[in-house]
Amino acid sequence: MLRSTHKAIGERITAELGLSEENARIFIEGSTGPDSHADFPHAVRKERKILAKLDEARTLFLLNDEYSYGEVANALHYIRDKWTRTREGERENAVEMNDQEFMRSVELLDLPEEAKKTYLGVAKSLLEVKNSGIESFFDHSWGIWHRDYASCVYVFADVAEMMLPTLQPDASVRGNSEKLEEYLRSEAFKRATQEGFSASLITNFLYPKLVGYPAAMYCLASLSPPAGFRGGVVDLEIAYRLSLEIARYTLLPSQQFKHQDAWTERAEREKEKPKLAFVLPEYHVLIPKPADEVRRDRLLIFDAEERRFLGEWPDVAEALRVSGHHSDNWRMLLSGLVELLKEKQSWA
Ligand SMILES: [Zn+2]
Repeated sequence: MLRSTHKAIGERITAELGLSEENARIFIEGSTGPDSHADFPHAVRKERKILAKLDEARTLFLLNDEYSYGEVANALHYIRDKWTRTREGERENAVEMNDQEFMRSVELLDLPEEAKKTYLGVAKSLLEVKNSGIESFFDHSWGIWHRDYASCVYVFADVAEMMLPTLQPDASVRGNSEKLEEYLRSEAFKRATQEGFSASLITNFLYPKLVGYPAAMYCLASLSPPAGFRGGVVDLEIAYRLSLEIARYTLLPSQQFKHQDAWTERAEREKEKPKLAFVLPEYHVLIPKPADEVRRDRLLIFDAEERRFLGEWPDVAEALRVSGHHSDNWRMLLSGLVELLKEKQSWA
């Protein structure tokens, strides 16, 4: 997106939100900020950066730190670049459709069915948030969970891979697949990981990653255009509307929210430390059901899911080998962890 468009949208948002002169100045500066950071391209692979900045902005806001305005504006810059991608159809005055015009433009998009469905879903969500509040878009009891039992095992393999130099400081063992294999079958590996692995499986399967407003903000910030399709002027309108709503709920005083949680309360936030950027789309999913209910259901199926995972393991191992998405060390660590699970099952 053009620098001048970022600035124009930044100015318009500060007016909509009625920011003070000083906060508006920081916000508008932050709106173009990333173009001076040069971490191009801004339109792709900035998801974690966006989420980390929103999280940080909210923390700063609760601390009455005015840089929260710059931090959220930075995040919104990347979101707008993600949506507009090209300079096609960019006019500084393009963002002035009313709700009906906006919906009508989306309905008129000449796109294949799936892409159009994504656009309609995003437009509907944005109108809902704007006209009825974030609570009607996202039920406060919903949470973001690990997708399934397997994803809880995989995420621990990620951690173990990162920890490997600490677990096994001898580089000659880590660099040799036979020696590494031997280490992964050893009592030393078992002692070092077993407890943490068990605890992590339970936490990840039975507790949501995020719940309430942090989960809602994650979902809003993650709205993305369908890959490979463009909506021209609709993209720009979405970029503006999305920026406005995310700014509104990142910079909204606690007492104006209907519920209290780690997004609205400083004490809750310090206790729960929601980390939006730790939600990885390959492992996590929104479950639109009350978190208590999901937890009860998952408690009942925990053991069965573990057995099912082990039953499917030979096929999974083969699929992972063929896909080539992971390092050899990761796959070896994973099979070491699976051995620990098998051993545990054999006692049960
Ligand atoms: Zn940019």
